[in-house]
Amino acid sequence: MDVLLAVILIIALAGLIFSFLGKQRKKVIITIPFPETYRDILTKQVPFYQQLDENNKNEFEKRIQQFLGQVRITGVKTTVEDLDNVLIAASAIIPIFNFPGWEYIHLHEVLLYPDSFDHEFQQEGGNRSVLGMVGNGALNHVMILSQHQLRQAFINKTGKDNTAIHEFIHLVDKTDGDIDGIPAFIMERKYIQPWLQLMQHEIKLINEDRSDINPYGATNEAEFFAVVSEYFFERPKLLKEKHPALYELLEKIFCKQPGD
Ligand SMILES: [Zn+2]
Repeated sequence: MDVLLAVILIIALAGLIFSFLGKQRKKVIITIPFPETYRDILTKQVPFYQQLDENNKNEFEKRIQQFLGQVRITGVKTTVEDLDNVLIAASAIIPIFNFPGWEYIHLHEVLLYPDSFDHEFQQEGGNRSVLGMVGNGALNHVMILSQHQLRQAFINKTGKDNTAIHEFIHLVDKTDGDIDGIPAFIMERKYIQPWLQLMQHEIKLINEDRSDINPYGATNEAEFFAVVSEYFFERPKLLKEKHPALYELLEKIFCKQPGD
């Protein structure tokens, strides 16, 4: 009876493991060298890449190739160029660069529209809605971006906004099931309460017009997290200077080493 039970258990366990592995996305083995044209774009246009040391630059390039091997990028009424591929992949990798095994497992495709896109896709309120979105329902595995906004964010070196990074932050937030401003999947539990309090405090300051954070962040906590993360990755020094407590907690959330 014990032997029989053991056999049944082993079969059940093997079944579980196989079904789990079956759901895992095929790991992309990178065999082709990183294209020089891509490296050139990173070197000229992506400050996050510029400040990495040689080892981390190689790692960043590898992650870019992996991302592009797993996520399809499709132009809608526009042509996707190398520049777009590299900037989208960079925006995906920047927030989760310190999480080596990270994959955007729920994302299958990025649709690139020339500029603002059709109103039928409007999900987020205000002007922001037409610049980028993470799909729901039938579009659950799709992200939509504006090509113009994507490129503009990397041209403007003094802005605190980056729509593509914003949308990838929503996906990171969504990993635990909810887009609620609390990325429970990546952050340590002990920081959740302080993070909630800080978000509420900062949203209040935005509403009282006493903040330099994009007012769209006051929409709700999910938007606050996305907006302030853009700021964190686009203008880290300025954020540290103006909002040290916020900076410190974001550093913990994204596992960034102080001084990086
Ligand atoms: Zn948003």
